[in-house]
Amino acid sequence: MTIDIRRFSSDQADFSAQMDALLAWEAVSDHQVQQIVTDILADVKKRGDAAVVEYSNRFDHLHAQSMSELELGQEQLQQALDTLPQAQRDALLKAAERVRSYHEKQKQDSWQYREADGTLLGQKVTPMDRVGIYVPGGKAAYPSSVLMNAIPAHVAGVNEIIMVVPTPGGELNQLVLAAAAVAGVNRVFTIGGAQAVAALAYGTDTVPGVDKIVGPGNIFVATAKRQVFGTVGIDMIAGPSEILVVCDGKTDPDWIAMDLFSQAEHDEDAQAILVSPDAGFLDQVKASIDKLLPDMQRADIIRASLTGRAALIKVADMDEAMEVTNRIAPEHLELSVEDPQALLPQIRHAGAIFMGRHTSEALGDYCAGPNHVLPTSGTARFSSPLGVYDFQKRSSLIMCSPDGASELGQVASVLARGEQLEAHARSAEYRIKK
Ligand code: NAD
Repeated sequence: MTIDIRRFSSDQADFSAQMDALLAWEAVSDHQVQQIVTDILADVKKRGDAAVVEYSNRFDHLHAQSMSELELGQEQLQQALDTLPQAQRDALLKAAERVRSYHEKQKQDSWQYREADGTLLGQKVTPMDRVGIYVPGGKAAYPSSVLMNAIPAHVAGVNEIIMVVPTPGGELNQLVLAAAAVAGVNRVFTIGGAQAVAALAYGTDTVPGVDKIVGPGNIFVATAKRQVFGTVGIDMIAGPSEILVVCDGKTDPDWIAMDLFSQAEHDEDAQAILVSPDAGFLDQVKASIDKLLPDMQRADIIRASLTGRAALIKVADMDEAMEVTNRIAPEHLELSVEDPQALLPQIRHAGAIFMGRHTSEALGDYCAGPNHVLPTSGTARFSSPLGVYDFQKRSSLIMCSPDGASELGQVASVLARGEQLEAHARSAEYRIKK
């Protein structure tokens, strides 16, 4: 059975319109969900732990009497790590080590310098005091998300990392708990959804309020994060996952088909796009897709994703492929070509760039080192992967010498009078040398 995938070419008159249609994505903003989330947030703000326990019992089918039953101890995390099957434990530790060493390089340091008038200027970098990490757990468990969210916070020097993860039916995922132990998480609460976001944002008697909430989640989680933004910081509101593969036509078509599947299997709305100057190669990949799909465990999700939002796009050459890439600003970009370095200067917008035929995007999801929390839906035009810098903040430093205060005072007083701010002007003038 063959499946229907949208296919078009840059030499068609309506190419631009086809691209617009391909990239159109309305972030779901269901009115009913908004109201449900607003109500849950208000209730948790008012009733604290009692409300969190009630919602957790209702949505995750638990029977907790108090919030203390919904916290896991450090020894439970450590035990999960100690009792993991050897292969999983080794893989987890290896992945964590790679992710940690990559993120160590992102650490920003404070700096200072002196102007000619003796004034000292600088920037002091400080980690956040306490952050919350949302680890989704409704339909599946994501140990890799624990590593990708908690390790950068740990490397940044955040004092306290609080993790929340729902456990439907009370089922704990040992790999998720072990990942929390490896990543340096300080406290874990088995709560999820809007009630967990509310507990982290406002604080309850048991759950400490945090400064920033990061991590992916379903529509209830995303809507709650959007609503608490301002009270706390948030990382981003992620849309469905995307991959753009640019291929010169010389990679094994089965490899490319499977790379497209690897995003498509996330969910029905995920987007997988292949761009190539070789029309015959697009035919070959399409044949591989038809051949490989029936054996996939998540064939239904992949089929829905590929028939919905995927595309095979023929371009004139690699220069045009790069123009298309920048227009898409993909979350994941695979450059399946002989010399990816040669294309790099032309790429302006992409969350993560996987270079060369051997670099499958899946490696980046788990263990290559860079973060897998990436900007989606074209937001790579203005944002970056989650990183250590998301958990550090900067304070400006100014220490004027008497000469500096005198010189700057004259400039400031003129500008302050221009703004009719008399106190500003005088405050500056007091320090001008007579
Ligand atoms: P989740 O933890 O996000 O959501 C589960 C919670 O949703 C429940 O605890 C419950 O409180 C709440 N909920 C469910 N139904 C509700 C209702 N009717 N009313 C109020 N609250 C309700 O887990 P999930 O549902 O499996 O979703 C995980 C999401 O995270 C998926 O969309 C997945 O694609 C995404 N994800 C993204 C990444 C990434 O890096 N971008 C990684 C992993 C997962």
